[in-house]
Amino acid sequence: MSRIAYVNGRYVPRRDAMVHIEDRGYQFADGVYELWEVRGGRMVDERRHLDRLMRSLNELQIAVPMAPTAFSLVLRETIRRNRVRNGIIYVQVTRGVARRDHAFPPPETQPSLVVTARSLDLEANERLAAQGVAVVTLPDNRWARVDIKTISLLPNVLAKQAARLQGAREAWFVDRDGRVTEGASTNAWIVTADGKVVTRPADNGILRGITRTVLVEAIKAHGLVLDERAFTVAEARTAREAFVTAASQIVMPVVRIDGQPVGDGKPGPVARALRRDFHRHSEWT
Ligand code: PLP
Repeated sequence: MSRIAYVNGRYVPRRDAMVHIEDRGYQFADGVYELWEVRGGRMVDERRHLDRLMRSLNELQIAVPMAPTAFSLVLRETIRRNRVRNGIIYVQVTRGVARRDHAFPPPETQPSLVVTARSLDLEANERLAAQGVAVVTLPDNRWARVDIKTISLLPNVLAKQAARLQGAREAWFVDRDGRVTEGASTNAWIVTADGKVVTRPADNGILRGITRTVLVEAIKAHGLVLDERAFTVAEARTAREAFVTAASQIVMPVVRIDGQPVGDGKPGPVARALRRDFHRHSEWT
């Protein structure tokens, strides 16, 4: 089945979906994105992701291309046209097309909006979660506003590739004090020897993951103790469990850090339980 993309007001076959060479997304990575999980044909945490998209746009002073209610219709229509039951929907907004000049373009410049959706193999994801993934650590060399979900992801791209070359699935960024900030495309968590679930506070040092926000609720509902603080790589290596979170993979157990097993080297009970129950705490629309 041919896939359909929404590009600046039109639904077009993917092969015909184009943006201008002077789009500021292409020229400067001057844009933001958002990604939702689609499960059973429904959107997971639609409102929270839309709110974050609005925040990202606002932080970068990019015009909002359409009201949230219209956005919602376009998202749904893109899911429908691509017949996605289980997968992801991706939105990208850039500052629009203008003659190349670093400073903002004229105020009448329209932002560019692209929406795509695709299916994911839920079973393959479950198999991966049953095995767990490896991560490697490397210095966090990103800019100071990683709380904005911008398409400017070069350090993340390089980190992910470094992980891949070492046979790992994710890279954990580490700040100057030796403390983990987050993954290249995930938030990072550990479970300590005394059973506390630890993750870095959502300040400017990380992206406030929507999965992270929902998981905080799940953790409370499980009667677990949440300790929102930064943790070091050394602490993570001796943790009982570790895991990462993101909308496309929910809770993914981490079983190796820099080649060393975490706990007994298998997905731990806390990560497995939180993964199993996550969707009870999400909003479904
Ligand atoms: N941190 C980074 C750097 C990310 O790119 C992502 C997701 O893309 C996340 C965290 C997790 O965010 P969410 O749970 O909203 O998908």
